[in-house]
Amino acid sequence: MSQRLRVFATCDIGEALNLLRNRGYAVEVYPEPQAPPKSLIVDKVRSGVDGLITTLRDAIDAEIFAAANGKLKVVAQYAVGFDNINRGDANRFKIPFTHTADVLTEATAEFAVFLLGTLARKMWPAEHLTRENGWGYWHPFLPFLGDEVTGKTIAVIGTGRIGLAMIKKCTGFDMNILCYDPAYENHEYINAIQEMMHLRFRRGISREKTTIRYTTLDDALGNADFISLHVPLLRQGETSAPTYHLINETTLRTMKPTAMLINTSRGPVVDENALARALREHWISGAALDVYEKEPLPSESPLRDPAIADRCRLLPHFASAARITRLSSDPDKGMAGRCVQGLIDVLEGNYGGDVTKMPYVVNKEAFVQTSM
Ligand code: NAD
Repeated sequence: MSQRLRVFATCDIGEALNLLRNRGYAVEVYPEPQAPPKSLIVDKVRSGVDGLITTLRDAIDAEIFAAANGKLKVVAQYAVGFDNINRGDANRFKIPFTHTADVLTEATAEFAVFLLGTLARKMWPAEHLTRENGWGYWHPFLPFLGDEVTGKTIAVIGTGRIGLAMIKKCTGFDMNILCYDPAYENHEYINAIQEMMHLRFRRGISREKTTIRYTTLDDALGNADFISLHVPLLRQGETSAPTYHLINETTLRTMKPTAMLINTSRGPVVDENALARALREHWISGAALDVYEKEPLPSESPLRDPAIADRCRLLPHFASAARITRLSSDPDKGMAGRCVQGLIDVLEGNYGGDVTKMPYVVNKEAFVQTSM
């Protein structure tokens, strides 16, 4: 390399950065655990970096692309969601951005299952009872009971990578599954799951027959015991089926009073004020959240109301937070490895320099050659 390629990472993503250093890149990492101020990212880009490593905490838009003055060649996002990156702006400035889809699919889906179990079986209040010395006796139903997961019905909203992995895991609990996705129905996968459900019943592995089917949002929300969200954050104007506040007062009122909501997708998919009210007034019986409209969760959030603490689990955007998933330098295993590989692909012109062929680039549409 005649001139060293320069990369600025807004966050330390671990040893995978050595893959870049070993190739001769000059890598600068923002040293604080918090996100850098946007003005600092603008300054770094203006100083002429070739690549930017970002997380969902960084707002990446025209202000940053304009500061690059043509020098910035790639934004490599360390996440599968990229709602913090203005896709239209990236396309206008012809800057490809990559993400780390797939390597966090199983980790996120299993976390959603664990949240569901924690909520349904009241693990958190039960542990508090034990720790706070409130466990005075064994009793058939006092001081409270949880609800079984096995044999219940789950609505999987969004049947992309993580939704399908969630479906696979829920079959292990002999659950009936209602699927909703207005943009992508994978009937081959759903048929295979149905065949597996039949086999489990025929061979005596499941006691009851179970079913899976695609349906409407209303049917899914109205008939499920658990509702698990696996959609990207899409706002009005970005799609014909936005997900911003998909769960709101109206859709919450569609759910059964015994229903429980699990959100590991993006916070703004749920109207938190409506949800807090739904929990307070028992429109639904519980919610487990990993993501929030504003992160970190503000101290004044209505979700922190002690009156709903027994039925509202709150986790710190933690679903992909498993060691290998987050840090492996192997692009087939870890977000760090995949993030770095996406950056290398663009900066080193892999795939014959054809951005549309690079597997981790998201906004391929900006690079499609149109024939005259
Ligand atoms: P994906 O793109 O493979 O799947 C998303 C699915 O949602 C697609 O099939 C799409 O058609 C569907 N969808 C779009 N609009 C919809 C709507 N209005 N209603 C129902 N379905 C709709 O993405 P993925 O890899 O499965 O990830 C899903 C999302 O999960 C990511 O965008 C990200 O925001 C979130 N996520 C969160 C964490 C975490 O740490 N909590 C980790 C990974 C991913």
